Amino acid sequence: MGLCKCPKRKVTNLFCFEHRVNVCEHCLVANHAKCIVQSYLQWLQDSDYNPNCRLCNVPLATRETTRLVCYDLFHWACLNERAAQLPRNTAPAGYQCPSCSGPIFPPANLAGPVASALREKLATVNWARAGLGLPLIDEVVSPEPEPLNTSDFSDWSSFNADGTPEQEGSASTSAAPAFYSQVPRPPASPSRPEQHTVIHMGGPEPLTHGELGMVSARGG
Ligand SMILES: [Zn+2]
Ligand SMILES: [Zn+2]
Ligand SMILES: [Zn+2]
Ligand SMILES: [Zn+2]
Repeated sequence: MGLCKCPKRKVTNLFCFEHRVNVCEHCLVANHAKCIVQSYLQWLQDSDYNPNCRLCNVPLATRETTRLVCYDLFHWACLNERAAQLPRNTAPAGYQCPSCSGPIFPPANLAGPVASALREKLATVNWARAGLGLPLIDEVVSPEPEPLNTSDFSDWSSFNADGTPEQEGSASTSAAPAFYSQVPRPPASPSRPEQHTVIHMGGPEPLTHGELGMVSARGG
């Protein structure tokens, strides 16, 4: 606990790891946007903190950042990219802080400069507008980013577990052998995408499913 330095002189337990001063949420948003800020207690335990973005491991100060209401800080681009990869039908609670699994969306009853700044930022992208219950906007579509191939996907992977693949019937069996056409195909259901993988081995064994006229070759 301590007093922050801004005119509000608030009693606060938040501490800027970078400048080593007490900060309230007002000074935090105004003057420490790219600083690691946690509780003073946290500072005592972890004074040799990591100043990098947890998502790309590049120093936070190099790019635009966003602070979640848990005070964890990320590059906006990194956070945005990750969240945008979640399935469209992900519930708002499914969007979680990659560090502590706290909510990305500020709780509705939470006021304060950090929550306000975050809401403002979230309102600029559609995945977040959907979660905030806002009407969607025309996003500036940037070129498709390369999918992240990092190994620390643990916090997010659970949300993808139930996702359904989006390609269905993409590999059509136009060149299927004739006997395939006699098999009635079940109608494609959207919930269970079919994956007809036709493997035509061309091995020495003749196909025995249809009358291929090969039996006559086996004269005694
Ligand atoms: Zn202050
Ligand atoms: Zn600072
Ligand atoms: Zn980053
Ligand atoms: Zn967090």
